[in-house]
Amino acid sequence: MSSREKTDADTSKLMDGVRLARRIRGDVGLRVGKIITESEVVPALATVLVGDDPASSAYVRMKRKRCEDVGIESLRLDLPPTASTDEVVAEVDALAQDKGVHAILVQHPIPQPIDRRRVFEAIPLAKDVDAVSSAALGRSILGLPGFGSCTPLGIMRLLAEYQVDLDGVRAVVIGRSPILGRPMASMLINAHATVTLCHSRTRNLSDIIETADLLIAAVGRARFVKGEWIKPGAVVIDAGYNEGYVGDVDFDAALERVSLITPVPGGVGPMTIATLLDQTVTAAAQQLGVDVKPVMP
Ligand code: NAP
Repeated sequence: MSSREKTDADTSKLMDGVRLARRIRGDVGLRVGKIITESEVVPALATVLVGDDPASSAYVRMKRKRCEDVGIESLRLDLPPTASTDEVVAEVDALAQDKGVHAILVQHPIPQPIDRRRVFEAIPLAKDVDAVSSAALGRSILGLPGFGSCTPLGIMRLLAEYQVDLDGVRAVVIGRSPILGRPMASMLINAHATVTLCHSRTRNLSDIIETADLLIAAVGRARFVKGEWIKPGAVVIDAGYNEGYVGDVDFDAALERVSLITPVPGGVGPMTIATLLDQTVTAAAQQLGVDVKPVMP
């Protein structure tokens, strides 16, 4: 994370995703127990991995492990990179019909030339716990009840945990992917932030970043955001996860200026998985007709 020795003042600026995720998983575990007691059914998440990308494979392994930790059954479906769109869609259709599967996660990225949009659209709303279908994403953008994209929703929970006031705040999101930047911008808008969404065609990016009270970096380029671009006192969320466990923000330089910042690793990543587990349990409870509300807000 940092090569410089950290002071207590530095440590107090860190948003601890590991600790909050642990608390959420504890809550999820209790709800899993209640569902099993009341319905005699174990909540189940199916993870679909297409291709042999080592990073994707590692993410899926981690998600399975976390499922096991909280008592969620994890079903893993691995498909070769040569699978056709029709084949992948047929597998997702089968999971959609399977009453023993309550949630479906198709790991990103889906290799080309598979039509990822068709694959995502095959996930029914009730099981779309990462909000990748256009219906789920649309509901999330409109602020309607339903599942949200796990990474931005995890970030929203982290912001709430650290009591970051979003009302009227000037927020800048870098990245417009359908799993991260776009739903992130929508969630912030729904929380009454004033949002600028930047991407690779944005002009004068650093000038825009300099105006941000809240900066969300979701670019996928190591140390892309320079310390001197950050407004003193800003809250910085680094969603990037690049080779060597490096984020999208130049952490050491940013730490000098921010009021709060997420470390990489240990910030956004654990929150993504905790949110996935949380939404999986909610999906199972809804499908099984068991009333188990989250204990945590
Ligand atoms: P993505 O689909 O590749 O999107 C990257 C976005 O960054 C695009 O919108 C792109 O703009 C923009 N961008 C690229 N170069 C830029 C530049 N020079 N200036 C401004 N914008 C630029 O990536 P993603 O899936 O959203 O993921 C982003 C990062 O988050 C990655 O590091 C990924 O590993 C990480 N991630 C972390 C988690 C987690 O749980 N921690 C989960 C998901 C993703 P265009 O649209 O114009 O191409």
